[in-house]
Amino acid sequence: MDSWLLNRDSVTEENKKFLVRLTRQNLKEVAAMADTIHDQVFSRIDCLQCANCCKSIPPIVNQADRRRIAHYLKITESLFHQKYLKNDEDGDTVINQSPCPFLETDNKCRIYEVRPKACREYPHTNNREFVKNIRLHIQNTHYCPGVFHIIEQLKTHYK
Ligand code: SF4
Ligand code: SF4
Repeated sequence: MDSWLLNRDSVTEENKKFLVRLTRQNLKEVAAMADTIHDQVFSRIDCLQCANCCKSIPPIVNQADRRRIAHYLKITESLFHQKYLKNDEDGDTVINQSPCPFLETDNKCRIYEVRPKACREYPHTNNREFVKNIRLHIQNTHYCPGVFHIIEQLKTHYK
């Protein structure tokens, strides 16, 4: 069994402390290291075998996403909003169901070419904002084996 499933809950506290420690490092260097590890980790993961993000986390859908996806589905933006979107507790507009209604049974995305920006950028571990998104990464270790393994490798690097 993947060590993610076995350990994702037990390392939460350790990860919180570690990720706060990371903020005291050179942030540019941390982001570059995370980016390198991200590529290594995701070269070994087949997201089509997982799709846990699409099954568990309703993505934010911004106005440009809404326009693009409604056009792709050949429906009006307001019908798209009515059928697929809601406001969450943070006031963000998100997909209204989980698993995502666009997730197919083979784990492919029905709107892949026009999927929301949030889906394209998930899990946000390969950008310059890596350290700013620390709280998000901690949450994501519970949903995404990729994030879990990236954090584990960073802990080894910065121990
Ligand atoms: S829109 Fe596609 S990529 Fe985004 S959560 Fe739904 S199925 Fe996944
Ligand atoms: S949860 Fe992570 S590993 Fe799984 S499909 Fe999403 S990005 Fe890929």
